[in-house]
Amino acid sequence: DEVEPAMRANIERRLDVLGPGYLLIYNDPVAFVRGRGAHLFDADGRDYLDAYNNVPVVGHCHPHVVEAVSRQLATLNTNTRYAQEGLVDYAERLVALLPEPLQRVTFACSGSEANDLALRVARHHTGHEGVIVNRYAYHGITREVAGISPALGEGSPLGANVRVIDPPDPTLVPAGGDLASHMLDETWRAIHDLRRHGFGTAALVLDLSFMSDGIFPEQDGYLQGMVDEVHAAGGVFIADEVQAGFARVGAGFWGFARHGVVPDIVTMGKPMGNGIPLSAAVFRPEVARDFGEQVRYFNTFGGSSVPIAAGAAVLDVFEQERVPERAERVGARLRAGIGALLADSPHVADVRGSGLLAAVEIVEDRDGRAPDRARTTRVIDGMREQRILISAAGPGVNVLKIRPPLAFDDADTDRFLESLEGVARRELR
Ligand code: PMP
Repeated sequence: DEVEPAMRANIERRLDVLGPGYLLIYNDPVAFVRGRGAHLFDADGRDYLDAYNNVPVVGHCHPHVVEAVSRQLATLNTNTRYAQEGLVDYAERLVALLPEPLQRVTFACSGSEANDLALRVARHHTGHEGVIVNRYAYHGITREVAGISPALGEGSPLGANVRVIDPPDPTLVPAGGDLASHMLDETWRAIHDLRRHGFGTAALVLDLSFMSDGIFPEQDGYLQGMVDEVHAAGGVFIADEVQAGFARVGAGFWGFARHGVVPDIVTMGKPMGNGIPLSAAVFRPEVARDFGEQVRYFNTFGGSSVPIAAGAAVLDVFEQERVPERAERVGARLRAGIGALLADSPHVADVRGSGLLAAVEIVEDRDGRAPDRARTTRVIDGMREQRILISAAGPGVNVLKIRPPLAFDDADTDRFLESLEGVARRELR
């Protein structure tokens, strides 16, 4: 057993007080004491390259965010029931980043809360109950959104009003078909199955990075047809941008941007406050109006002064450092480098992704394409030995999830590729 005694003691105490639900990422876990940019440091000062965490989007402990949050925290932190310049300024800045019809914002503290509210609004607006999601989607932890999150498994049953459809994975398209027709068929089938069971369609909810379904952000050309079908059934389209948003997937600030589709509701969270809890649901005003008039929604911490200061500081850094442009450029280089290293591996079925999100599908062999979870774990552990943090996604837990802070730069990319080359030589030949 390689786990050091102090760490083992911590793990045991953790299990006692926090319970088994508090999973650790590695069998031999890492503990950090400090972070900067895309780097995390342990107590011995060793430098780990963070190629996994999307929350510290502009970099761990970015000085501009730290300064803005510290100043606000030392000055005033109150809720949204008092008039605040900062709140309105930030809300206006945020909607300016979205297409014209999306202009009504509600702030919350987590992606789950934002999705929970979006669903309630969708039901209220459409008068329907049915929800369509991807086969292995994750949308959060409240009862409402856990019920539309098949990724949570059998312990969290889906509601009778929920139907699942394929993600835009080209390998799932029947022979001779195309992705757009397949996705449309899937949507149509879900709508009709809901109808057969007495449900109207309230919403189609998609994470446009398809993170938990195995990461398929780069496909396009299929979404408009799906959304038209949902609209025709009286439902709305909710883009869950918790993962894809804030320039993660390139080609526009949001996951939906590459599709040329304007959602009815957009939800966002994780990177929004660089680690300070801040999330939002943004609506077409006509979708949210009745709900806002008839249902009281007050979120104590959502949108109070400190998280708003964090959100505004993140947008400052996006502008000052031209973060989206850098992420797109570095991401393209990273993905090309990974592709070049792994193109010939018999255990790599696909290297994909977009923007600064890369995925490597690891299989037993290329022809059969059976997921190789054990090998995937060995690659993740091998990278960890090189002090590089990544993880895995997808129903088979066999898709490397490479999703660094957008502070990741060219030197980080070089280090990543050099280490991956060594690990691939051992594990992917
Ligand atoms: N939606 C998606 C697509 C997510 O990935 C997550 C978090 N992993 C959530 C919603 C829930 O966000 P939170 O953990 O902030 O509640």
